[in-house]
Amino acid sequence: MKLATIKHGLATEAAMIDEEAGLAFPLGIDMTTLIMLGQMPEPTSRGLPLSSVAILAPIPLPARNIFCVGKNYRAHAQEFTRSGFDSSAKSEAETIPEAPIIFTKVPQSVIASGEPILYPRGLSDKIDYEAELAVVIGVGGRGIDRSDAYDHVFGYTIVNDVTARDLQSLHKQWLIGKSLDSFCPMGPWLVTADEVDVANLGIRCWVNDELRQDANTADLIFDIPILIETLSAGITLQPGDIIATGTPAGVGLGFDPPRFLRPGDRVTVEIDGLGRLVNDVR
Ligand code: MG
Repeated sequence: MKLATIKHGLATEAAMIDEEAGLAFPLGIDMTTLIMLGQMPEPTSRGLPLSSVAILAPIPLPARNIFCVGKNYRAHAQEFTRSGFDSSAKSEAETIPEAPIIFTKVPQSVIASGEPILYPRGLSDKIDYEAELAVVIGVGGRGIDRSDAYDHVFGYTIVNDVTARDLQSLHKQWLIGKSLDSFCPMGPWLVTADEVDVANLGIRCWVNDELRQDANTADLIFDIPILIETLSAGITLQPGDIIATGTPAGVGLGFDPPRFLRPGDRVTVEIDGLGRLVNDVR
């Protein structure tokens, strides 16, 4: 099932999306409450034409930071270390992490598909894209074993982990370079876990019409069960928590010379079964 957060008139609420029919069925509650509810409520009205509503990010303002995973595809880890921007690895031997690298993005960096990525003129001119599969936690928990991890997943969405490479490198910790306003495009909607085989999804990213990233989630170094086990070992995961699982090779810094985003560029991220996340740089 596809679930979106929609805005129509004065109302902002979760809705079931029937893409084929072009309709949104409002559910009368927000997405995080829906996730906590553990069952699907009846729609509160007849379907609204998708053309008559605004689709926001599925969780427009997460309750806490978005958990993100660094260097979780082998070929990307290699291109990142080679680029010289990687403050976490100075040698080839350190390229593939021994344990998941976890950082976060602030909740206020989230924007919807169709909203602009704001070019931080005067602050950074090394803005990069990162196509990522994102996990949305359903039932929370602490000390979740990897064998039970999928019981805690509500669904999946797409995140573009937009990054200012120079700030990422300068500040060693990645939060500033990853959390500038508008640097977390998310959506277009959330797809419930029963609808996709998450261990085998094509993931692609275009800048304008050029395909830059083309990979499969089967190639994750640390898979979703390991990520959930790692995070929940000492941090209680909560309903609505979001984990962006890392990006494959083909980001701008992987090119020689690097090919960073410029105002006017359009970034499109597509994952099989999850839709397309499209954002222009402005
Ligand atoms: Mg990333």
